Amino acid sequence: MTFEDLGLSPALLRALAENDYNTPTPIQAQAIPLILSGNDVLGGAQTGTGKTAAFGLPLLQRLAKETPPKGPRKPRALILVPTRELAVQVAENLKTYGRHLRLNVTTIFGGAGMQPQIDNLRRGVDVLIACPGRLLDHMESGHAKLDAVEVLVLDEADRMLDMGFLPQMKRIMNRVPKQRQTLLFSATFEPRIKAMALEFMRDPQQVQV
Ligand code: AMP
Repeated sequence: MTFEDLGLSPALLRALAENDYNTPTPIQAQAIPLILSGNDVLGGAQTGTGKTAAFGLPLLQRLAKETPPKGPRKPRALILVPTRELAVQVAENLKTYGRHLRLNVTTIFGGAGMQPQIDNLRRGVDVLIACPGRLLDHMESGHAKLDAVEVLVLDEADRMLDMGFLPQMKRIMNRVPKQRQTLLFSATFEPRIKAMALEFMRDPQQVQV
């Protein structure tokens, strides 16, 4: 099994080769084709399994295929993460995978100044990686607009629930378009994760490693 077999574009394959990614990990082999076909995917995977590329590669491919709307670009992909550290790590990975694409990747998290984040949002964003609390602040002040979101990712959803983010996550999910692709990654498929999938996903395909 190679990344070519999974249906990824030449620009992404080139970035992967430059980064010495030769073989897809099991979660990548299972999830990438399903996500490229437009399915909602419920992924059971811990950190270290390659889950970031599993959702990140097909997400970048989808956004790169479309011509972004004219004018300041509003996020077309939103990735919700529990911590600032994970936000930074996911952003670094996506910038690496998308180095031959022209997509803007930006992070939003608490414990850092508002203004630089506002400046980044104003400059235009294709992929927004955000912690729920600070994202809501930017939504309420009108700086983060989510009406163009086509792909929503909940990364480490179990950890976000552990940290008490459920009310914030629900408020955010109710503000992104219903017509979207939703990808949820969690270390476990415990009942509260299944409940979220039922409420916020459409016929999710389950993959697990
Ligand atoms: P993640 O589970 O997404 O945090 O990824 C764990 C680590 O594995 C990261 O450092 C990735 O850069 C790396 N990685 C992910 N997929 C692959 C792959 N197919 N080949 C080699 N390294 C990978």
